[in-house]
Amino acid sequence: MNEGLNEKTLVLVKPDAIQRGLLGQIISRFEIKGLKMIGLKMMTLDEATLREHYAHIADKPFFPGVARFMRSTPVIAMCWEGLDVVETVRRITGITKAREAEAGSIRGDFAMSVSCNVVHASDSVENAEREVKRFFKQDELHSYDKSEYVHVYGEDERT
Ligand code: ADP
Repeated sequence: MNEGLNEKTLVLVKPDAIQRGLLGQIISRFEIKGLKMIGLKMMTLDEATLREHYAHIADKPFFPGVARFMRSTPVIAMCWEGLDVVETVRRITGITKAREAEAGSIRGDFAMSVSCNVVHASDSVENAEREVKRFFKQDELHSYDKSEYVHVYGEDERT
């Protein structure tokens, strides 16, 4: 099997999306693309996890607002797997400033805000590895064959 099929990324469905009832549509975007879900859970984020997760913006003036927003409602954490999944999911997610995000992307179709931008997605393979570990214990990630892979990938990509 092509080891690249095991690449993993983390997606968080943010409080605005939970409040607006967008969860199902967001999951559908990744499902219909052909990605494999291997982990899913609802969680209320604590201060320490948020500080670690958003360490790269911790000294920005908007960080306290982001932290309050991210703790205002539980989030859904998901782990998705597939070939080049990190880059693919970032493209499906769209750019940070949602009202300028490309139509067809999740942020482009569902949001208007920079802070309330519906989803988080890991931005590099290295960060994805760290983030998946941050949000999922080993036994919360599942390994299984997805029969549709025969139709989602060409033989050369699967083997
Ligand atoms: P992304 O989520 O697209 O990878 P960043 O890592 O730069 O973007 O920022 C993390 C999150 O912080 C963003 O998704 C957004 O919710 C929030 N954020 C970023 N920039 C701003 C800003 N200028 N004002 C308010 N919130 C922001």
